[in-house]
Amino acid sequence: MGASKISFEASLAADVVQTGRCASCGACVAVCPYECLQLVKGHPRLVKECQSCGLCAQACPRYDYSQSQMENFVFGRSRKPDEPFGIYRQLAIAQATDEKILNASQDGGVATALLAYALKNGQINHAVVAGTGREKPFYPIPKLASTFAELLEAAGTKYTCSPSTLLLTDACKQRKAKAAFVGTPCQVQAVRKMQAAGLKRQTRCLDFLIGLMCSRCFTYEGLMKNHVHGKLGVDLSEIKKMSIKGKLLLTTTSGVIEIPLSEIKKYQQKNCDACGDFSSELADVSVGCLGLDKWTLTVIRTEKGEKLFSGAEQAGFLRTKPVNEVGAFNLLVRLSEKKRKNAATA
Ligand SMILES: Cc1cc2nc3c(=O)[nH]c(=O)nc-3n(C[C@H](O)[C@H](O)[C@H](O)COP(=O)(O)OP(=O)(O)OC[C@H]3O[C@@H](n4cnc5c(N)ncnc54)[C@H](O)[C@@H]3O)c2cc1C
Ligand code: SF4
Ligand code: SF4
Ligand code: SF4
Repeated sequence: MGASKISFEASLAADVVQTGRCASCGACVAVCPYECLQLVKGHPRLVKECQSCGLCAQACPRYDYSQSQMENFVFGRSRKPDEPFGIYRQLAIAQATDEKILNASQDGGVATALLAYALKNGQINHAVVAGTGREKPFYPIPKLASTFAELLEAAGTKYTCSPSTLLLTDACKQRKAKAAFVGTPCQVQAVRKMQAAGLKRQTRCLDFLIGLMCSRCFTYEGLMKNHVHGKLGVDLSEIKKMSIKGKLLLTTTSGVIEIPLSEIKKYQQKNCDACGDFSSELADVSVGCLGLDKWTLTVIRTEKGEKLFSGAEQAGFLRTKPVNEVGAFNLLVRLSEKKRKNAATA
């Protein structure tokens, strides 16, 4: 991960965008000091002459990226062979105690409860999350949530990539800002790469990272517009929740619609084939469902994550239950190994 001065065209355009490996994370756009880049249909495009400073290449999780170097940066060591889902300190099965959080959230509401706790005790004053709007339900819009109500509004999963890193830079520009960041593994990798490259202006306000577990994401055009609305005739504004549990489940005002994954596979983002991180291995705390119902499987990885989680539990924001869900852990290992293997051959 050298800091060479390379142009956008010679680095990301050639090696990432044109090869179909761009994860639409937005980090390149976020770090360009000359505002040369814009995301167009999810991918960066030059809108001004590139000054060849090389910063976009330093931030991109798909360019000159080494997982073991990043593990060394975050944890001071790289993983051992018996750590199939990355380095961690503790595992927990947890749930938000607040009914409002639990009802709004995807699974056990751990992500939202941790943010709510950190906002309440002043540890952060912003959280970079993914909200959505009425015109395009479930289309992720990066949001800077600064209140409990804004956290609740953004709870729940949107299965399309969100260029959330764009807002981290915005948060860091605000004086005295302290922010948390929630993102998929590719977004967490981008933020860690920015930190490792010493891009302080863009990351100095970051306090902690919550990583979502992630198998894949889908194009909004394909999944929501063409399939769910176009083919199945579902009014998108009637969908209350989307989840994937062996199949895609759409909870609507008139019941649950089940869609086999084989029907929607073609709308998967192609770049996800190159992604080897299932469980956000570089986050402070990683959260996933892994078949649990209204509980979140939580991987606490760093000292910061450990303090945050135990603080939230002691303050009554979270409850836990004994870690004896063998099926969920076996699935975590299996999905992590499968994704890493598939990425190596992609
Ligand atoms: C694209 C995608 C694929 C996933 N695939 C899996 C999977 O295969 N297996 C599994 O166990 N878990 C998967 N998850 C994670 C799972 O859906 C839940 O997010 C996780 O279990 C945490 O639940 P929670 O109730 O604690 O989160 P909540 O309290 O509901 O909080 C979720 C947080 O994630 C943010 N968010 C939602 N969508 C996005 C997005 N697209 N990009 C960035 N931030 C977002 C929200 O704004 C919110 O802050 C996936 C998530 C995403 C976004
Ligand atoms: S950060 Fe901007 S100016 Fe620098 S190489 Fe990338 S596009 Fe060019
Ligand atoms: S993966 Fe992210 S940083 Fe890399 S080119 Fe795509 S949007 Fe830019
Ligand atoms: S599978 Fe990987 S690249 Fe695709 S959205 Fe999830 S973390 Fe990002």
